[in-house]
Amino acid sequence: MKYDYLIVGAGLYGAVFAREAADRGKKVLVIDRRPHIAGNVHTEKINGILIHRYGAHIFHTNNPEVWAYVNRFASFNRFTNAPVANFRGELYSLPFNMYTFNKMWGVVTPDEAAAKIAEQRGEITGEPRNLEEQAISLVGRDIYEKLIKGYTEKQWGRPCTELPSFIIRRLPVRFTFDNNYFNSLYQGIPVGGYTEMVSRMLSGTEVRLNEDYLADRHRFDSLADHVVYTGPLDAFFDNRLGRLEYRSLRFENEHLEIGNYQGNAVINYTDREVPFTRIIEHKWFEFGRNEDGNDLPTTVISREYPAEWKPGDEPYYPINDRKNNDLAEAYRKLAASESRVIFGGRLGDYRYYDMDAVIEQALLRCSEVL
Ligand code: UDP
Repeated sequence: MKYDYLIVGAGLYGAVFAREAADRGKKVLVIDRRPHIAGNVHTEKINGILIHRYGAHIFHTNNPEVWAYVNRFASFNRFTNAPVANFRGELYSLPFNMYTFNKMWGVVTPDEAAAKIAEQRGEITGEPRNLEEQAISLVGRDIYEKLIKGYTEKQWGRPCTELPSFIIRRLPVRFTFDNNYFNSLYQGIPVGGYTEMVSRMLSGTEVRLNEDYLADRHRFDSLADHVVYTGPLDAFFDNRLGRLEYRSLRFENEHLEIGNYQGNAVINYTDREVPFTRIIEHKWFEFGRNEDGNDLPTTVISREYPAEWKPGDEPYYPINDRKNNDLAEAYRKLAASESRVIFGGRLGDYRYYDMDAVIEQALLRCSEVL
């Protein structure tokens, strides 16, 4: 065998695994179906503006080891995600905090806000059974109706009553004036973009792009002793137990000859009628400046339209409802009997991981197997 590891997918999981394996003297080959590395964190420059090709990616973590790890490959800027919600022209601060409560109800103190929520959460008795009940019990019906229901149902294409409650628990609820979207000790965006960071992770390893593992698996398998597979879990097994569902996204990108379109990196459109979930104005991830510190004269915006995944589309999110989780569990049992193959990443594990969790999982796996 020519290689110790064939790594299928040059996203974060694959890149970390490749780095660690190479540093331990293993011979690795990284392949990717797409014409670029970095998977869905891929970034590229257009007119001096760094574009997040597959949607906004803000790196954040509470894990000092993961933070130290990524800082080996990039320096991070001080970007802090503070998205704004636009509900039919009314603007609200996110995540749910004192600014949001003040705008929604005119309350001024944390006690007043807590009392308002306590009154509204009364309609939920017992353990919340789905996202709708979980949301109302966290922030009350008014916020649920204006800031959660429409956005969530657009994003997932399913009613909130059929979605798992953990999704909404990703968002902080705070009784302080703090618009930081994440409860993480460390946060930022790699200067120069994620693709540069991943490229540094992959430096010195062999990478082949436009190579589809599943389309030619016998040839690829014959190249290496082990395979690290980060593609969709069900596709690895030819969907033999049935298809897992994924959410996909479509981006409509526009380059505008103006300096400032919306004044923020991310604005969410939380009503049901606007067909997109959010507009990203990429330049604000880097404070509107180019690498020389000069103001960028123009801007690029991306409208994000969620869509049900169908073969040929890019999968973005696993849908972790009961039906899909049960099926994923059955696939994981099959995966466990593939002794030569390591499954990882958002698609390989079929889990809604953030970037830091992907890196954490990859490092953990490396410490077990390498
Ligand atoms: N969410 C919401 N309203 C918002 C933003 C988020 O209700 O304005 C909820 C929604 O249920 C969504 C979840 O929070 O599915 C996570 O959203 P986010 O956009 O942060 O997820 P990402 O796509 O960035 O991982």
